[in-house]
Amino acid sequence: MNTTKRTKIVATLGPATGSKEKIREIIELGVNVARINFSHGTHESNGQIIDYVKELRQEMGMAVGIMADLQGPRIRTVVDEDVEIEKGERIYVYDSSVEKSEILNPEIKIVGLDWPGIVADIEIGNDILIEDGLLRINVVEKGDNYLVAKVEDGGVVKNHKGVNIPDAKLKIGAVTEKDEVDLKFALGKGVDFVALSFVANAAEIIATREKIKKMLGRDEQIPLIVSKIERKEAIKNIVEIIKATDAVMVARGDLGIEMEESKVVIYQKEIISRCLRNATPVIVATQMLNSMIENPRPTRAEVSDVSNAVIDHTDSVMLSGETANGKYPAEAVRVMRDIILKTEKSPFDILAHGFLGDKSHTVSAAIAHSAHELLKDTNSKAIVAASTSGFSARMVARHRPDRPVWVMTNNESVHYQMSLVWGVETFVLPECRTLDELIDRSIDTLLKNNLVEPKERVIIVAGRPGALREHMSLVKVEEV
Ligand code: PGA
Ligand code: MN
Repeated sequence: MNTTKRTKIVATLGPATGSKEKIREIIELGVNVARINFSHGTHESNGQIIDYVKELRQEMGMAVGIMADLQGPRIRTVVDEDVEIEKGERIYVYDSSVEKSEILNPEIKIVGLDWPGIVADIEIGNDILIEDGLLRINVVEKGDNYLVAKVEDGGVVKNHKGVNIPDAKLKIGAVTEKDEVDLKFALGKGVDFVALSFVANAAEIIATREKIKKMLGRDEQIPLIVSKIERKEAIKNIVEIIKATDAVMVARGDLGIEMEESKVVIYQKEIISRCLRNATPVIVATQMLNSMIENPRPTRAEVSDVSNAVIDHTDSVMLSGETANGKYPAEAVRVMRDIILKTEKSPFDILAHGFLGDKSHTVSAAIAHSAHELLKDTNSKAIVAASTSGFSARMVARHRPDRPVWVMTNNESVHYQMSLVWGVETFVLPECRTLDELIDRSIDTLLKNNLVEPKERVIIVAGRPGALREHMSLVKVEEV
């Protein structure tokens, strides 16, 4: 039986994990993907962390992926000093790129939003939420370059706090000017994933992929796009988004502000099951072990949250502040790993037969399904999948087999990109010309790594060698 954990861990790196030794420690404890949040840090500090991870994955011989998370169209407040607002009061909201003096009555309190043209995208009736939804104002009147809003939940408006406007149809793409600069920097560093914040639709994802290809000057070996689901628009367009994206993040922090908190867990389950059916890697993110930012032990509810995400069959679970700027980054990873291992040992994370409900009748889907059936029926050691693009690996992994999925690839990018995919471990092979050569080299690699012994059986999944588009056409029971 498999003793390594199958659900992957994404850890956000920051000041608390800024040294090479700290990063080594958390990789040893089970981090599979290092996330760098470009909402924080400088190119210098973020670049340093990326360099450390690249050195370490080489030194340690581990396929740790690197994810650059772009800030996206995050709107923030602009006030000269704190503004106290009270329930029932009417205040002005304006676009801070416009001269404030042009706007009316100096007696009335005024709050700026740092998004040029934002006023045009907001309608009467829209709620504006400030500082993680702590304050809420409702738009009652609209001028040319200002809004009048009635205070619903009062408090103190501070400068540079995050703003959510769940119902606004923002005419702003997912990639801002700042993101463009950060993206260029991240691509220069050779990251494996680019995460897009506040994605609204498929068109934004497709446009960003084109932008990345243009920036890199190539069509192949480009980073995968992770679409963060954290807006109402994204929930509405979830089907087209999953079709267009390479991976998905259930970004529960902002999602819980933009939508009712009580529905976040339902969205989590819906999104994971859609991703599973589509063989799209999915991450559950935010506040998973939040109290560990301050404390060495998690709350029972947090443990239960991580455990339930595993039971939902997510590919990855994520740590944010816990590892980026918490007091106990290594403990957080250790706790997360232990929860994953214990949950995976239970019968609850096993995918029910028929869960995938696949009616596509594609050959690849059928091959992956057969491989899983053969694995059980022949009591073989593992599935060994040859995968040039990662597609076959994802197709096999989505069955959540209880034995290893070893992936052989000739593509170094895929080697690192599989870091996000449940249960997959990859090995890089040179390009093989025949099926026999592929099988021989695969078995050799497994023997060298002490993963199999002579006479043991593995299930081989492959396509036609040399075929350009990945297409699985063969499944074989092979004795070592
Ligand atoms: P963030 O995204 O940490 O970049 O805000 C995650 C979330 O909103 O949950
Ligand atoms: Mn967010």
